[in-house]
Amino acid sequence: MKIYNFSAGPAMLPEAVMRKAQAEFLDYQGSGSGMLELSHRGKFFQPVIDRAEANTRELLGISDDYAVIFVQGGASMQFAMLAMNLLNGGTADYVDTGVWSSKAAKEAKMFGSVNIVASSKETKYDHIPAASEWKQTPGAAYLHITTNNTIAGTQYMNMPTAPAGVPLIADMSSDIMSRAFDVSKFGMFYAGAQKNLGPSGVALVVIRKDLAARTDDSKVPTMLRYSTYIDEGSMFNTPPTFAIYILALITDWLKEHGGIAAMEQVNDAKAKLLYDFLDESKFYSSPVARADRSRMNVVFRTPDADLDAKFVSEATAAGLTQLKGHRLVGGCRASIYNAMPVEGVQALIDFMKKFECANK
Ligand SMILES: *Cc1c(COP(=O)(O)O)cnc(C)c1O
Repeated sequence: MKIYNFSAGPAMLPEAVMRKAQAEFLDYQGSGSGMLELSHRGKFFQPVIDRAEANTRELLGISDDYAVIFVQGGASMQFAMLAMNLLNGGTADYVDTGVWSSKAAKEAKMFGSVNIVASSKETKYDHIPAASEWKQTPGAAYLHITTNNTIAGTQYMNMPTAPAGVPLIADMSSDIMSRAFDVSKFGMFYAGAQKNLGPSGVALVVIRKDLAARTDDSKVPTMLRYSTYIDEGSMFNTPPTFAIYILALITDWLKEHGGIAAMEQVNDAKAKLLYDFLDESKFYSSPVARADRSRMNVVFRTPDADLDAKFVSEATAAGLTQLKGHRLVGGCRASIYNAMPVEGVQALIDFMKKFECANK
């Protein structure tokens, strides 16, 4: 049976990438060793990390004003690391649009003041607060947003603009490389790799070089300074070589498939299929404000929690796996990142129709 995996993360990877990694697993390009066994300082790995960076720059259109680095610890470590490097006793503005943004703000409080400029917490994070209502701090150290809210299922349709002189920083863990955006609007953005880029454990960080230079080196440990990663090509210590290798393969795959613009078209089409179906249905519902619905994580419910559980278990038996909603919000969630083919979304809709007929 064909399995479609709707996990929010670690999420499914393109089959072509999995096959390539499998084919090279025991013997990487005639070296006689697998990628897991090769020195990060040897001749095989350097071209891989160089390619991961070059592909990332090409796909996103990143200029030389920015550094592209790979940091262990996932997106969650960036919550603290960015504040350690860039806050330094000042005030940072955060838009609270979900669990991940509030976790990011909580870590930052250890290194300065945090101003929550807007929050949708009271309505269970069912929308993105309009930028016109944000109460921003003049001269803030930075403004932090979460571009896609993996758990609540909301997404910024347009990237906001920070006030002049305030760097815009974004957690893009669950929508990086899923749509085009203007890099020059950002001081920094970061993403845990396990949603759209590859294995868990590594974060892609893109930071303007002049911002990275603001860190007070006497206060931040070497391994937690952006400048260390920039100066050492992300190899101050042993980097997560296998994760970076998969990221290189994923970005190769993105380039072969027409890059970000082509990916965005497919992602829009997949999301439209599913939301159109939800909107027509009287059985299923979406708890999210229509204008802010995520194209990556589609949150939905059946008429009650028992049916949600039945839906998830019968879907699993039908080869549609990991559709359970996040434990904090319940219901169901279909994560449809870049690697999910249109056929997977269609198979889900077909199953949803059958389940509705049998249970309404
Ligand atoms: C998954 C996720 C995280 C956490 O990523 P880790 O790599 O597990 O730390 C942070 N932010 C967002 C938006 C996420 O989707």
